[in-house]
Amino acid sequence: MTATDARTGDGSEREPGDAHTVGIVGAGITGLALTHYLAERGVDSVAFEAGDEPGGVIQSRTVDGHVLEVGPQRMRKTPGIGAIAEAVGVTDDIVEAREEDLYVYANGALGQAPLSVEAFLETDLLSWRGKARMLAEPLTRQGMDVETAEGLFVRKFGREAYERFIGPLYGGIYGSDPARMPAAYALEGLLDREAEAGSLLAAFRQRVGSGHESPPISFREGNQQLPEAIYEAHADRIELETPVTDIRSLGPGGEGPYLLETPDGIHRVEQVVVTTPAGVASDLLAGLADGADGLADLLYNPLALVFLDAEHGRTGKGYQVGYDEDLHTLGVSWNAQMFGRDGVQTVFLGGMHEPELVEASDDRLARIAREEYKEVMGVDASVIDVARLDVGFPAWDQSWWQLEAVELPPGITLATNYTARMGIPSRVREAKSIAERLADGASGDAAEAVPATADD
Ligand SMILES: Cc1cc2nc3c(=O)[nH]c(=O)nc-3n(C[C@H](O)[C@H](O)[C@H](O)COP(=O)(O)OP(=O)(O)OC[C@H]3O[C@@H](n4cnc5c(N)ncnc54)[C@H](O)[C@@H]3O)c2cc1C
Repeated sequence: MTATDARTGDGSEREPGDAHTVGIVGAGITGLALTHYLAERGVDSVAFEAGDEPGGVIQSRTVDGHVLEVGPQRMRKTPGIGAIAEAVGVTDDIVEAREEDLYVYANGALGQAPLSVEAFLETDLLSWRGKARMLAEPLTRQGMDVETAEGLFVRKFGREAYERFIGPLYGGIYGSDPARMPAAYALEGLLDREAEAGSLLAAFRQRVGSGHESPPISFREGNQQLPEAIYEAHADRIELETPVTDIRSLGPGGEGPYLLETPDGIHRVEQVVVTTPAGVASDLLAGLADGADGLADLLYNPLALVFLDAEHGRTGKGYQVGYDEDLHTLGVSWNAQMFGRDGVQTVFLGGMHEPELVEASDDRLARIAREEYKEVMGVDASVIDVARLDVGFPAWDQSWWQLEAVELPPGITLATNYTARMGIPSRVREAKSIAERLADGASGDAAEAVPATADD
């Protein structure tokens, strides 16, 4: 790091800090991948992370010999994920999911989600009338921004298909209710694909098809092994336990260069990339970006995770629960079946459906998870652990209209899972494209918040 005579810009007496081309706020997967791609391109950068571990919401822990995921349960091995894993030396630790099947619990029974033509024809989640209604989708009008995700799905596929599998599967990605998710944000990517593919059904099939080319994976020690390996490869550019407490502009109208204030000093950077959750971004960008206060209103769905130990004879990734079912469970991930994780089943509770449940005692959460698991799967389970995420999934609900008012100054980029896609491969892909832009010396043209749907 190079010491400079950078002034603090506010006349204060603080020590001048280090100078860097790019300052990154946060070392979740986005900040880490950005660090990696900037280093690959020879661009000087520093990342500040408030926590004492790299990875952000990607958190793996081992309890009584079980690998548990207190965040994402898996990621898709897209070419981008494969390449970054190889670059940081963890390819040999990749564990591929054995089966892709996904189930929905609706009308009191588990049914396989019809994600292929064969499964669609065979599924008993839908009546023949429901199947025929779904197949008539190409005759419906194209999806519109002003609709909710629920309104759009029901109009295009019929209520039966929506309630029995589309709603639970789609809402399950965010722990949200599609009735509260504007299509403009929650389905933007799919609507674009609909226009190209000719129908939403065709767009779905394209997405599922491309998913099969990128199997779900984890790593031997859990998903966090990937961010940890990226951190190890670039530890000289990443400061853990160093929250950014303020961002100040030295240029006119909020332009760069910028000063990043941290407890251990002030650091001058030419460009800032903010990757933090929305509430933190709102505080840091107040006074720098129009509409930044609205970021604080973006809703996150809090989650409780109960880790069970159980054996069952099915194969697949797990199941989502239909809204009308009389269960608290949102969905269950079969980590044991996917990755050979020694009995581990992850039960998700809370979300937009029942946010207050996350406050319940561990005992109550454990009891609910165990009893409902037995009801659905027909087998007993013991409880390994309970965890809570107060800031869980971005909800992609009506509060996302706040993004319309956000205008960032040149030199500041928001690279987040609430302004672009949420899946880990998408976070890595966005980091790469930002690194390319910054390496090209362009400044600010991607400074606009780009809302988009979340997927892998
Ligand atoms: C429960 C859950 C399940 C998911 N499941 C999947 C899945 O199965 N597959 C998939 O692909 N994706 C999944 N996702 C989505 C994906 O995991 C996330 O979108 C992605 O990991 C977010 O990474 P990020 O770096 O953008 O943000 P974060 O991980 O939120 O990183 C932001 C970082 O900023 C740090 N920070 C905060 N304040 C400051 C500050 N003032 N100064 C410095 N640092 C600060 C935080 O500590 C954090 O490390 C899931 C997400 C959640 C929450």
